[in-house]
Amino acid sequence: PQGRVGPSETAVRPANVKHVIAVASGKGGVGKSTVSVNLACALARMGLAVGLADADIFGPSAPRMLGVSGQPAFADGKLIPFKAHGVEVMSIGFIAEGDSPMIFRGPRASGAVRQMTAGVAWGQTGPLDVLIIDLPPGTGDIHLTVIQSVKLDGVVIVSTPQEVALIDARRAVAMFGKTGTPVLGVVENMAFFPDPVTGAPIHIFGEGGAKAEAAKLGVPLLAQVPIDIPLRQGGDEGRPLTAGDNDSPAAVAFRQAAATL
Ligand code: ADP
Repeated sequence: PQGRVGPSETAVRPANVKHVIAVASGKGGVGKSTVSVNLACALARMGLAVGLADADIFGPSAPRMLGVSGQPAFADGKLIPFKAHGVEVMSIGFIAEGDSPMIFRGPRASGAVRQMTAGVAWGQTGPLDVLIIDLPPGTGDIHLTVIQSVKLDGVVIVSTPQEVALIDARRAVAMFGKTGTPVLGVVENMAFFPDPVTGAPIHIFGEGGAKAEAAKLGVPLLAQVPIDIPLRQGGDEGRPLTAGDNDSPAAVAFRQAAATL
């Protein structure tokens, strides 16, 4: 009875944007925003014109992770994106007031997500090669709205190696599959912690779960990102690891993933 929910014929690419890639996860807290921000910065350092639409209405992280704050300007009916670390960025977090909770119901939630994508004057200095959309976690109404209104070239799924995260990641893959959105691959985040003395991987959240899952689903494993303190610090301090010259295993993993997208 669920039927097929195909991408709507009315789905459009936001103006001035060549490619759109969504980043999704079944669960919250698995590092979806960390992956979105670091992929965006890695792509920008490859010389591409990149934008990041932070559409995670439940926990917008892009302002903090990229170190940007303030109210965006509005011109000709569109929000003007900020630019940080070479990436144009718009976030629902810029529009929310202080620490007040963002309470969106049905249509307003979808409207807010649309405002973060089609409602932005992307490409202030020329067309964007890639727009990354950081979606809210889960598989719900908002995702269907995005799929039906924004023409996506593909989606990257983020999961930790734990079974509980993988179950939800599987749901996300199934949802995008049903809607005909290509799943570009899986990023296994928090894949391991390198032993501080020997460097040997310690599999805190289990071993190889996402790798096996990706193989089972027939989608590429784009990266295995370790648990990394500078990665977390960079996120907290608005300096993404991939925005600078950094050869840590986490930065290398993101760069490789960006290069294969
Ligand atoms: P989500 O977007 O899925 O809710 P976040 O990207 O906000 O998750 O990550 C949640 C927290 O975990 C953040 O504080 C982030 O810095 C941290 N984090 C994410 N990935 C890693 C990692 N590989 N190593 C260390 N900390 C990480």
